[in-house]
Amino acid sequence: MGASGQMRQVLSAPPKSRPPLCAGRRGKHPMQLFHNASMRRLFAALCLGSALAAPAFATPPVAAPARPVPAIPATPLRTPQPGQVQPLAPGTRPAPKIPTLTLTPAIPQVHQVTYLSNGFIEVAHAVITVTPQERPNLRPLVAQVAAAVLAARPTLSEVDLSVYDRGSYAGFGGPLPLLTASVPRERLGAFLAWTTQRTPFDRVWVNPGNLPVYLQPDRVRETVPVPVAVSSQETALERQARKQGGLLGGLLYRSKFRYVPLAALTFDDAPHPMYEPLLLDMLRRSGVKATFFVIGRNAAAYPYFIRDMTQQGHEVGNHTYHHVRLPPLPLNEAVNEMRWASDIVQKLTGKPVRYFRPPGGEYTPQTLQAARSLGLNTVFWTDDPGDFQNPGDAVLESRLHRNLRPGGVVLLHDNAPEMLNVLQGFLRVARQEGYALTTVGGLPK
Ligand SMILES: [Zn+2]
Repeated sequence: MGASGQMRQVLSAPPKSRPPLCAGRRGKHPMQLFHNASMRRLFAALCLGSALAAPAFATPPVAAPARPVPAIPATPLRTPQPGQVQPLAPGTRPAPKIPTLTLTPAIPQVHQVTYLSNGFIEVAHAVITVTPQERPNLRPLVAQVAAAVLAARPTLSEVDLSVYDRGSYAGFGGPLPLLTASVPRERLGAFLAWTTQRTPFDRVWVNPGNLPVYLQPDRVRETVPVPVAVSSQETALERQARKQGGLLGGLLYRSKFRYVPLAALTFDDAPHPMYEPLLLDMLRRSGVKATFFVIGRNAAAYPYFIRDMTQQGHEVGNHTYHHVRLPPLPLNEAVNEMRWASDIVQKLTGKPVRYFRPPGGEYTPQTLQAARSLGLNTVFWTDDPGDFQNPGDAVLESRLHRNLRPGGVVLLHDNAPEMLNVLQGFLRVARQEGYALTTVGGLPK
């Protein structure tokens, strides 16, 4: 649907009286970096188009707008800087400092080694950068780094490695690594055998080096939203879906059953090479299954974590391929973002993807309809404690408990350090209060 069709949808929406669900929520997402205030207002209007309107690919109605649409000044195309595409627990408060490990003797290619504990196990993540001349000999290098890190800190259960091109390295959200590996201490021997004898090792990924341009994060475009009449009201569908619960028109806010002490536990932005094994370990110890809304590009680069999720009984959902906000994108790009993420998840899990969470919770009637056409239901939440804003453990814990409701959906982020600090306590208290936590799929609709 073109710009004029979207305008008509918004303008023809009936009068509403409540603030939008898709703008101005508490717990704003770090991807808001992409948008200034006017873009957010525009998006608020985009959210308003009746989601009950014509399907995304249908011909728009021919009726002319009832009143003139205010002109919106043109804004140039935006290309996110490398590192902005992927959130890494930033926020309104500085993230707690993550400890680093110093190797002696130093290995020149090691950029940084960070490590963290979940109270039970410790995991390290080593970032390695290499020159083009060093690229043909990555295996001996990663063998050396893995062995050195595990030797330097005997309490580590696992070291995960990300090898990047030095010239283009721009953090976790920049261009994808050249090679990644997950090396549990007890599997170091098998990993070393992979590096020397090329025996199979299932926890390694080598960038094929031939990924098409669209799979490179720094090529994602965030484009100007189409001009629409600005309003700040929610659609009838949103209001109804929130009020009555259950699946309605492809939207899910909570279960329809408010008296069953069952809530869904969800984690956005997975997988991350240091946090994922810590989180999966904690959930395994608690016997809790959750839904992970994963970023497609990172699922591709760390496929073994997606397989771990499935093997441990968790559900894997779609959080777009590049973690990009959908409303400003042309519809075909928004559809591709959803499709590519579903494709990689399905390839890794062997299961069709059923649930989708748009970055920032932002969508339009068109993206909602497109998600449905891809077999995806769009999932929101009832309990968002703002873990990525680093509010402090006590505040985070109290928000989590205060908002937990039967039939609710809890939103957390897999790469928020304070989440790791409070999760164990939250799971314990939820259990003591009689709650069972489950996947989105496990929530009665
Ligand atoms: Zn996200």
